[in-house]
Amino acid sequence: MMGASRHASELRQVIGRVYLVGAGPGSPDLLTLRAVRLLEQADIVYFDALVHPDTLALARRAKMVSVGKRAGRVSTDQRFINRHLVEAAAQHRTVVRLKGGDPMMFGRAQEEIDALNLAGVPFEVVPGITAAAAASADLGVSLTRRGSSRSVTFATPRIGPGEGDSEWAAQAAAADTAVLYMAGSARAETAAALMAEGVDAGTPVVVVQNASLPGSRRSATTLSRLADLPVDESQGPVLLLLGEVYRELLDEIPAGVGVPARTESRSAAL
Ligand code: SAH
Repeated sequence: MMGASRHASELRQVIGRVYLVGAGPGSPDLLTLRAVRLLEQADIVYFDALVHPDTLALARRAKMVSVGKRAGRVSTDQRFINRHLVEAAAQHRTVVRLKGGDPMMFGRAQEEIDALNLAGVPFEVVPGITAAAAASADLGVSLTRRGSSRSVTFATPRIGPGEGDSEWAAQAAAADTAVLYMAGSARAETAAALMAEGVDAGTPVVVVQNASLPGSRRSATTLSRLADLPVDESQGPVLLLLGEVYRELLDEIPAGVGVPARTESRSAAL
């Protein structure tokens, strides 16, 4: 595959630049100004499944290509995306690859960067607000609350095809606060793995769904009860947050009942 990309770039002149742009956690008014400007200028946009329609609408003159990835659904092959980004730079000046949250956090940006580098295509990365930041804002609880958390781990229990074993549970167990991406559907296994690493069964866990969006929901429980928490992932992406900083939420939020986030998410028109 990589060889084919290089071959393509030797045959065609690169005229454009590829921008790996963070779309933020969902709410369109959490885009950066740089992201907005690039979307407005874009000739072609390759976008992920979770990007808000109002965000996509900013790309007024662009050809829009969905390469959506969504747990449990058919997703576009990563090599296909890599090849298309390289080829788009031979036809368009401004190629935007729009990714949910921050491109550099569990977004497979590196595979795209490697393919662009190999093909000699210039690129830039535009950071975005990652889901952990949006969920923390919705909860009104600091990831690094003074006195109880001096370390945060961002981890995922998801092991992709072709990937080796991961030390995610040990890393999450070692941190004061752990934020788990792509863990919504594997709650039972996630809880079991953490407890096997010695995390206390009574550790508070918060589930935040659709962070930053008007339909944001949260539930709080303890690690030993996480497996029983009903979560409907078809209603939006889910983040698990774990640690003592969330203890007071155990009293405020009934376990198993998704309640609106404390901080009202507002989605202003751009
Ligand atoms: N690059 C993205 C993460 C991609 S992995 C970022 O920086 O946020 C996809 C996972 O992110 C989802 O499975 C979920 O765990 C999390 N996620 C993304 N958006 C979210 C949101 N609005 N609310 C809760 N979790 C979200």
